Amino acid sequence: MIIVMKKGAEQKEIDDVTRWIESVGYRAHLSKGVERTIIGAVGDERGKVFLKSAEMMPGVEKVVPILQPYKLASRESREGDTIINVGNVAVGGPKFVVIAGPCAVETEEQLMESAYVVKKAGASMLRGGAFKPRTSPYSFQGLGEEGLKILARAREKTGLPVVTEVMSASDVELVESYVDVLQVGARNTQNFALLKGVGHSKKPVLLKRGMMTTIEELLMSAEYILASGNDRVMLCERGIRSFETATRNTLDLSAVPVLKEKTHLPVIVDPSHAVGQWRLVPPMAKAAVAAGADGLMIEVHPDPRHALSDGPQSLKPEKFYRLMDEIEEIASVVRKE
Ligand code: PEP
Ligand code: MN
Repeated sequence: MIIVMKKGAEQKEIDDVTRWIESVGYRAHLSKGVERTIIGAVGDERGKVFLKSAEMMPGVEKVVPILQPYKLASRESREGDTIINVGNVAVGGPKFVVIAGPCAVETEEQLMESAYVVKKAGASMLRGGAFKPRTSPYSFQGLGEEGLKILARAREKTGLPVVTEVMSASDVELVESYVDVLQVGARNTQNFALLKGVGHSKKPVLLKRGMMTTIEELLMSAEYILASGNDRVMLCERGIRSFETATRNTLDLSAVPVLKEKTHLPVIVDPSHAVGQWRLVPPMAKAAVAAGADGLMIEVHPDPRHALSDGPQSLKPEKFYRLMDEIEEIASVVRKE
């Protein structure tokens, strides 16, 4: 259920409704919009009849059921789009956001060089994995905490906020102490213990769509994070498994307008992991901008041939510079800055 407050409802009325929601066994999630406050009542169905009576309370306009299983992530539970501020970058607002960098942090030099390329190109955030979810246990697993330290130094030098993956709930505290955005990777989209773990963090989360998860399942995973108390979630479409073998995954671009219809959360597209080959990254990146995404995540490496992971899908700096110019043009057509 959501309780929609009247325009200009007083703080005392909001507090009274919040207390009422809690007294009938629900948790109250406040969403203050420009015009009005919406209070989400989250809990099981048992107290539904009591909630309905909130309609008689001062300051309440109406009480409406949310039909989707994802309550807090649904459009009804919030007025307008969620904008997530990461440092001075606003994700989900009028500005198109590009997150770029290597698949993995390999060395200080490699990351610093990548960071300067990303900054020079005009991207907003730096990515780089320190804990890598590799298919083979014999592949490079990432530098762990040393990689996080390198990311933190790159932020200090460039001012770019940094995004990195956290693979286990027990690592959340360590990872959040170094970086600005916690990434939940495609292999962990339905790792519910991890979702609760990042849900208790104060840092924003970039939640990737699993290669086998439906849009609704992705939204249910976002709901875990929101319901745990973290309302700063960005969703990321990164390709799903299909029968097609020409590309690493199949980029589900229709997920962008579908998600924009169903949720207020920002939507990012990662064409790199979707296509798996650098030549295909620019066309799909541009298509994602045109489809209405709020941002892109792109793998860029100063020397892809020697990359320790995902070299074949990483753009060289000069290709990335060109793509950034094209993105800017398309973004302006779809009214993004
Ligand atoms: C990544 O972004 O580093 C990554 C491993 O991506 P995904 O989880 O989408 O495969
Ligand atoms: Mn990668």
